[in-house]
Amino acid sequence: MSDHPGPLDPKENAPPEAGPSRGIDLSRRRFLKRGAVTAGAILGAGPIVRSALGAELVPGDDGEVVGYLDTPYLPWAPEYRKHDPNRPWPTDVTPGEPCCPDNPAFGPPSDAIVLFDGSNMDAWEPNEWEIENGEVVAYEDDITTLESFGDCQLHLEWQAPDPPRGSTTDRGNSGVFFMSRYEIQIFDSYTEKIYPDGIAGAVYGETPPMVHPIRPPGQWNVYDITFTAPVFNGDGDLVSPARVTMLFNGVLVHNNTTIHGPTDWREISEYSAHPPEQPLRLQEHGNPVRFRNIWIRRLNLRNNNG
Ligand code: MG
Repeated sequence: MSDHPGPLDPKENAPPEAGPSRGIDLSRRRFLKRGAVTAGAILGAGPIVRSALGAELVPGDDGEVVGYLDTPYLPWAPEYRKHDPNRPWPTDVTPGEPCCPDNPAFGPPSDAIVLFDGSNMDAWEPNEWEIENGEVVAYEDDITTLESFGDCQLHLEWQAPDPPRGSTTDRGNSGVFFMSRYEIQIFDSYTEKIYPDGIAGAVYGETPPMVHPIRPPGQWNVYDITFTAPVFNGDGDLVSPARVTMLFNGVLVHNNTTIHGPTDWREISEYSAHPPEQPLRLQEHGNPVRFRNIWIRRLNLRNNNG
């Protein structure tokens, strides 16, 4: 549960540094509730709270803040803080309709390792998540694969709880951690706002997706992710960082995006050497997020650059 959000103490806020306007453009924060009357309705934007130090915070429907202004600035995006609520919200994109209603996404190709096909959780430990109608439901603990992986292509499908579950910072929260360290966020950012580096498809706490092609709770979202593992030399120093390319419901949201270290909550963590293959991890964060059709292909991307 490394992306465990918590409340912000406004007294800890540092005043915004000089630079571009850090005002919040509410017009870019459209949060369509399931069953909202019309697309484009502006819902869920609560009143702006001004702290004693002048920092502006936007609370969610339940009064929790949707970001942090007391966190470190990101070395790779120095105009933004970790989980900065003022970071631009990626454009909402409506993904295409499934071409084949009974089979909206591809099943595993012949060289894939099937991690979940609806029948059992034998590829995972602990394997206590329950299977319902060929879908597995997040429950109690994170789970990790028995096998370890480095460079890989991952396909998974997930569905946020319907009706929506969880607070502003915990709405339909899950995540897929490559090498058990580097999270691509799973989150019901269709119905709830959160800092942009915490929405679905984000490299958690680092980089939002380029756009936000999420489907509403009760519908399946599809992640197709190519992950390049980090490389360390014999002294344990980082030679090259992890990278990720990702289609989210068929829409490109990361293109060889650098992962800057373990994707922790609020902290900027540095790489530390680890084995070249590590288990994949799925996050349990108090929400019964559902998964199906999970498969992975081993790749060797470092030696496939011509
Ligand atoms: Mg998460």
